[in-house]
Amino acid sequence: MTNPTTTTIQHHRFHPIGPVAIAVSQNILKPCKAHGCNESRSGLSLYCSSHTSIFKRYGHPNGRSIPPKDYRSYRAEVSDIFDANTAHPGYVSALDYLTKYMARAASDSDDRDGPFRGSVEINRLASFGITPRDILLELCSFWTYLHDHPRALPDLRAEDWGLSRAVMSLAPRLRRYTSGRLALGGYSPKPKFSSLDGIGSHMRSVLSMFFVNVAMSVTTKEQRALVTLQALKAPLASPTAVYLAQAAAATAATAIAIAATPIPHSGR
Ligand SMILES: [Zn+2]
Repeated sequence: MTNPTTTTIQHHRFHPIGPVAIAVSQNILKPCKAHGCNESRSGLSLYCSSHTSIFKRYGHPNGRSIPPKDYRSYRAEVSDIFDANTAHPGYVSALDYLTKYMARAASDSDDRDGPFRGSVEINRLASFGITPRDILLELCSFWTYLHDHPRALPDLRAEDWGLSRAVMSLAPRLRRYTSGRLALGGYSPKPKFSSLDGIGSHMRSVLSMFFVNVAMSVTTKEQRALVTLQALKAPLASPTAVYLAQAAAATAATAIAIAATPIPHSGR
């Protein structure tokens, strides 16, 4: 004996029909939008599952991590530039801005994610004693690295996410939650999309002029290449010129020798 109601319910369970399900079923027939990828898309994403996960971490399906050790070499030089310019108006106003930015992150907000996108992460840094100068140094070092490696990341957004990651890397992310640690600021175990998308792009919009200024002051790869190029282009001496120079030097040496030789007194 078959119950018609049960049959109907089973039919709906195995063939869910709704606007989202229809969109997913159409989307997964399309290829992943990442360059050179032939996989089919995942869910409602523009990308396949692996490119979706890379996108969520780096802001671009072909993005990647640039670990702090890669731009460590710039940090010492940028730090020296800061120390030599403590009264520079750009440096002073950049530090002033970051001081206010950190204070704003700590201010009260009704929003679960804090006063602005990424403020939870900024509070985490503050709880580890990170200063506005530390943040500025990290941003400028990373920016100078990008200046020297213009193809390191695929686009502007991936660079902004790199800036966000550079700032976030200044303090550890505690792996396990306890109630006490949650009270520090309630940051998530992994950086949130809103933080990655918020911090770097904001810093670029506010401080890019100062970043450019610092990058131009650092002995960049470009400048080192220019010095090498000038050395390669320096005029070469012709063999004749070398011979003449040697001959002139020899004549001068003889003249000095003659001048230095005491003239014997003629017997009187
Ligand atoms: Zn893909």
